[in-house]
Amino acid sequence: MYLMERQKTIKRRITFEGIGLHTGKESALTLEPADENIGILFRIDGKEFYVNITNVCDTLQNISLCFGERKVMTVEHLFSVFTGLGIDNLVIEINYGEEVPILDGSAYEFVKAIKEVGLVEQSARREYFYIDREFRYTKSEDQYLVLKPSDRLIIDYEIDFEFIGKEKLRLEVTPETYEREISKARTFGFLEDADRLKRAGLALGADLSNVHVYSKADRKFINQDRYPDESVRHKILDLLGAIAIFRPSLTGEFIARKSGHTMDVALLKEVYFTYFSY
Ligand SMILES: [Zn+2]
Repeated sequence: MYLMERQKTIKRRITFEGIGLHTGKESALTLEPADENIGILFRIDGKEFYVNITNVCDTLQNISLCFGERKVMTVEHLFSVFTGLGIDNLVIEINYGEEVPILDGSAYEFVKAIKEVGLVEQSARREYFYIDREFRYTKSEDQYLVLKPSDRLIIDYEIDFEFIGKEKLRLEVTPETYEREISKARTFGFLEDADRLKRAGLALGADLSNVHVYSKADRKFINQDRYPDESVRHKILDLLGAIAIFRPSLTGEFIARKSGHTMDVALLKEVYFTYFSY
């Protein structure tokens, strides 16, 4: 069904500025249109770096990419937009800073700005990558990530966090479902973890404007929900970010049970090394 789709880039440059979730420091980046078959390319200090899943160098609290000495943190929300809206070619110029701005904690600010400038279809066909067998990453009996062959991109995700409880969602990812069902879901965290994370030098930029915060004492989220099951939707958003880092465009059916950045990236690296390492 995807066979005739063309590659896409953005019509004009867009700059995003703001603080990083983990560093708490100001940063800025500019998205620029790129020629067909370029893929996602970072420009840092005048040097250019192609991205694929092997550039992931940290998955502890975010997905970081490393290019030699240079590091870009928390790329997953921005990258989810590339999978979600179907953007193939783009240059990401890092103007200053080491982390993608967190903005409102979701991907919606990126989606809004990109839709405002618009996408342009290019003449080259989008190349999809199809796996020919199942892949599985198992951490425990109820914590695993499976990828099954499919010519569509389907995500079936279930989480079960203490306090938040079970949330489950299955959807086929299209630009429409991504924007409506996934893109507004924010990063979530527990109020009670904030001090410990900040002491460890993490989440220094986190506050109620960019995190959906759950209070264990109050047994509820203390800022307003955007979806009744916002947490599982954000986990899907994060997974779509990891999928965008895998090049070329991957299709398949992902069955995720209590997964996260580390498992998402481990599975994608296994797929990558199965087919692309000689
Ligand atoms: Zn996230």
